[in-house]
Amino acid sequence: MKGKMNLIVMGPQGVGKGAQSDDLAGIYGIPHISTGEIFRKNIAEKTELGKKVSSYIEKGELVPDEVTSAMVFDRLSQPDARKGWILDGYPRNARQSEALDEWLSKHGERLDAVILLEADADTIARRIQKRIREEGRSDDNPDAIAERLAIYARETKPLIDYYSQKGLLRRVNAEGSVPKVTAAMREAIEK
Ligand code: ADP
Repeated sequence: MKGKMNLIVMGPQGVGKGAQSDDLAGIYGIPHISTGEIFRKNIAEKTELGKKVSSYIEKGELVPDEVTSAMVFDRLSQPDARKGWILDGYPRNARQSEALDEWLSKHGERLDAVILLEADADTIARRIQKRIREEGRSDDNPDAIAERLAIYARETKPLIDYYSQKGLLRRVNAEGSVPKVTAAMREAIEK
């Protein structure tokens, strides 16, 4: 892989953004930046950021945009992100995508692709059930899941059009195994 690779991985809760982003990040040698993971780590470590965001996360609501964007831009500015990055869980609404565009132009960078992972409702429901059994996340309860899915439909889905109009969107079928989906993602990015 030559040059820098700046990617966004989008898709609904449970489609496999985390697993796929991890796999792809390993192959490209770039960091997988998951906003949800960074928040959960800060909550576990009881940092100031963790205290600020925990009530939103518990309820499945979005953390305020200024807090989230500041955290993401700080992470994108770290040395290991010079080779590129995979953003998972950001941007999640129009204000965040605009903030990211500003950050990119200010830093003379651009997005290479926005990958939209797609799977049917049954597959997604099964994957969420599996995650509930295996990870025990405090926000994987019915109320918080319903809230996150509603926010996805209302605020995140419109970004599909936004990136499609920029010619950056790549739709990838996420029904198969992790390596199969990774191969499809690579093809979509590199073609
Ligand atoms: P999921 O995709 O299953 O909802 P994530 O790990 O991506 O899980 O996010 C968990 C929670 O972290 C979200 O419900 C939200 O509270 C917070 N969060 C993550 N990313 C963002 C974001 N870009 N903007 C605001 N809040 C976010």
